[in-house]
Amino acid sequence: MDSVINSVGLARADSLGFTDLRLTQYTPKTQNMQNGNEPTFRENVDRMFDRAAATLDLPMGLADQIRTCNGVYQVKFGVELRGGYQVITGWRALHSEHQLPVKGGIRYAYFANQEEVEALAALMSYKCAIVDVPFGGSKGALRIRPKDYTEEELEHITRRFTAELAKRGLINPGLNVPAPDMGTSEREMAWMADEYHQLFPNDINGFGCVTGKPVSMGGILGRTEATGRGVQFGLREFFRHPEDVKSAGLTGDLGGKTMVVQGLGNVGYHASKFFSEEDGVKITAVIERDGAVINDDGLNIEALYQHKLDTGGVKGFSGAQHVEGGAPVLEKECDILLPAAMEGQITQKNADRIQAKIIAEAANGPVTFNADQSLRDRGVVIIPDAFLNAGGVTVSYFEWIKNLSHIRFGRMERRYEEAKGRALVEAIEEAVGKKVSDSITQRLIQGADELTLVRSGLDDTMREAYNTIAEIHRSRDAVEDLRTAAFVLAIEKIAHCYTSMEL
Ligand code: GLU
Repeated sequence: MDSVINSVGLARADSLGFTDLRLTQYTPKTQNMQNGNEPTFRENVDRMFDRAAATLDLPMGLADQIRTCNGVYQVKFGVELRGGYQVITGWRALHSEHQLPVKGGIRYAYFANQEEVEALAALMSYKCAIVDVPFGGSKGALRIRPKDYTEEELEHITRRFTAELAKRGLINPGLNVPAPDMGTSEREMAWMADEYHQLFPNDINGFGCVTGKPVSMGGILGRTEATGRGVQFGLREFFRHPEDVKSAGLTGDLGGKTMVVQGLGNVGYHASKFFSEEDGVKITAVIERDGAVINDDGLNIEALYQHKLDTGGVKGFSGAQHVEGGAPVLEKECDILLPAAMEGQITQKNADRIQAKIIAEAANGPVTFNADQSLRDRGVVIIPDAFLNAGGVTVSYFEWIKNLSHIRFGRMERRYEEAKGRALVEAIEEAVGKKVSDSITQRLIQGADELTLVRSGLDDTMREAYNTIAEIHRSRDAVEDLRTAAFVLAIEKIAHCYTSMEL
């Protein structure tokens, strides 16, 4: 055996044993672990929840039941590395199991901790409810710095973690389905899917144990761009409502608006690329770990991203001014601020200096509860994370359906649609005695492929969710902002699940 298992809260377990299924019980922590006087990430999410729950008339204790993280499993496993053992700590939190499977990414980060994983799991429950994805909420993390390991070592660590989760039902197509998050990508998901397949070769739905996989391993087209694409679709829908745009002190559509982006990872890159290339948004600054680059005429995001891939950062990018220490650039004047990095970036320390009119939360939890209150008082409109970045889990849902149905979207109907479109063109030409132009013919005869269907389903999801949230905000006096409206929607949906079954 090449590994040592020491799961906290569990007896030392045989790595092949299926016996020990207990989860450590959730114990609320009052101690502030993160930012001096700022509440922890989990406390921030809970306060946002409480603010929304206070506007509802729920059966006694139900709000607590929904808000509470049902369980969190912590594992410390030894991995044989570089001639010795290294003990690695990981978590998988199950926030709400009102629907199964529970869903949520796995993060690899040196700062990962249990509070953070619980907060992120809670956001997953609310996110899924808001965009009508029939999953409960979960999240996982490994406390490692991926850059410290070779690819081979990361694969070894990922496979060990997968085995730990799999034998406790914490990775399973019907119970708990991880996905990529910060520090992980389709590469890690491929290792997880393969490890699961080796452990359970007879599970016909095995590919559905994880989403965000490469297309060659049961993934779906459009998943990598999905969170950024969902941010684009969500913000576009906001701009379709002139009265909402006006409430932010703006007019018109997205074209010509200025945007400051924090984080050029998967989400920040895709969202800012789509906004600048497809909607005419001017990205005037991008903040990264090694400082910020600024160009008031607009940055070329694709070129900047290539520069980041080549050099590891944004410093030295030509055609832009570079400043060390990017945090103050969050306060730069702009129409839209897009935090796409991580939690706790806009706090009571810098909230008063933020000049953006809209904060579009592409990351999870970028604005703390206190900052949220003061920004709201100043009339800054926040488009909340639990809605705006739900594109990832939405397309994960499509991928999971694809895995369970064992067929790619569009396979049965694409050519049939083409034939119908061609017949329509012929009928029009015959009736009017004129040839339909090539471009119209092309549009009419095109059957939808998987990517087209995925984007269409995502667009529909984001539009529907925005309209539901905006309607709650408009129609209920006690609901003062979009975040509270999003939480109200989530709480009502989850409460309905609980009240329509026995607790
Ligand atoms: N990690 C992503 C999120 O925070 C995606 C989760 C998923 O697809 O399950 O929403």
